[in-house]
Amino acid sequence: MDNKKPNTLLDLAIHQLLKNETAAIHALEEIPRDLFVPLFCASFKGVHKSIVKAMVKVWPYTCLHIGTFTVRKPHRELLTAMLEGLQFLPVQNSGSRIPKLRILDLREDSGCKIICPKICTKSPECLFSCAHSENSILKIQSRQSIASSEPEVQPSSIPMELIVNISIVSNITLREHEYLTLLLNKVEDSSGSLHLCCRDLEIDELGDRRNILNHLDLKCLVSLSVFQGSLVDVNNLLAQVGQLRRFCLSRITCRSLNGKAFRNFVSHLRCMDHLNELNFHSFVLTDHLEAALRVLPTSLEFLHLTFCELSYNDFKFLAECPQANHLKLLNITHNPMYWEDCEPFYNILHRLSGTLQHLAVNQCVLTDSMVAGVIPALSRCTQLRVLNFSSNPVSMPMLMRLLEHLTPLLELKYVIYPIPVHCYGRWPIQDSLDEQKLANVKARLKRMLREAGRSDMIWFTFPG
Ligand SMILES: [Zn+2]
Ligand SMILES: [Zn+2]
Repeated sequence: MDNKKPNTLLDLAIHQLLKNETAAIHALEEIPRDLFVPLFCASFKGVHKSIVKAMVKVWPYTCLHIGTFTVRKPHRELLTAMLEGLQFLPVQNSGSRIPKLRILDLREDSGCKIICPKICTKSPECLFSCAHSENSILKIQSRQSIASSEPEVQPSSIPMELIVNISIVSNITLREHEYLTLLLNKVEDSSGSLHLCCRDLEIDELGDRRNILNHLDLKCLVSLSVFQGSLVDVNNLLAQVGQLRRFCLSRITCRSLNGKAFRNFVSHLRCMDHLNELNFHSFVLTDHLEAALRVLPTSLEFLHLTFCELSYNDFKFLAECPQANHLKLLNITHNPMYWEDCEPFYNILHRLSGTLQHLAVNQCVLTDSMVAGVIPALSRCTQLRVLNFSSNPVSMPMLMRLLEHLTPLLELKYVIYPIPVHCYGRWPIQDSLDEQKLANVKARLKRMLREAGRSDMIWFTFPG
């Protein structure tokens, strides 16, 4: 099938422009302003690199956001082209119709439109302009208005912002590395007029990333993920960070949870008043969960505590702390519950019954008695959509009992269950798995779901 036929006058005009890139670039000087956004969308989707670059050069609006576009491999070069097209505007020319671009936003899925609506009363007229850095347009403008009588403080170019998400991890591709280099070069070329505003930073090997970190104002961060490092290095980073909404730490080492580094870390957590998501992975917190959690806001919605070696006391605290009162997601995967007492886990589920949408408890050594103990609380989690409790030593009768109690939960659509122990010669040795027994389990559960009128609920499992 050929491309869809253009069906409106606007579609027809854009279709014609895209057919001849040179003519399209030439026409940018004359086409009506209203045509810019639809032409940009079509050029971005069609990966018309030259047109996109030329459009950035003469963009007639204050801001330009990638918005909801997904940047797949072919689009990567578009971001580079957009960066190349970004020009620093001399102060004298600010009155002309073109160009007007002052905020280029290269983040994906940021939930914003290509340009911000006119109703925005902020200056600059962009809902996503930086509000934190001393180098933001907002702060520079307010300083300029205070010091307008002093001519030497006037810069030669109009202040601009480049909003990005940055991932600096060991396995980035050569292309991503080149993109990062281009970002930094652009900032250096601007002689101080371009603020590189990073909102989401993923970083590993903190000690080796000084060069890039020196170019960033960490106050702009909304989300920070650190993979691998010492808690001392993490503290150094947090000392420069502003208000995070999302904070992830993975494979973090700490000499002693009773030492100064951990105390400093807790004092940084105490300042995270707007935190919405906390993700600790492979960060051993045995008997110290209370110290880390109790200083956080009670508005926390997403909590991942995986491979944290949580103790019985940690679970008891989790069941009582106000910070875990409104969780939508709780992931406590790979924290073995070797104890018999199911009360802490029951209490956690009982308190979250009105909000919990996603529960993950893989590889927690959940036994039949533990599952039986929490069924009354779990079956009251009316908002639950995803339950993942794979790789736990549960029997087939217990699995069937659980299914009967969960089928009334109408929001629950996905259950990832453990392969019952009878399917193994020796649980959980993969080589001892009896495929026929597993096939029987799957067929049995499927039949039960059908009989319960819940064929829309998907139960699945995998060895591991
Ligand atoms: Zn905007
Ligand atoms: Zn900023």
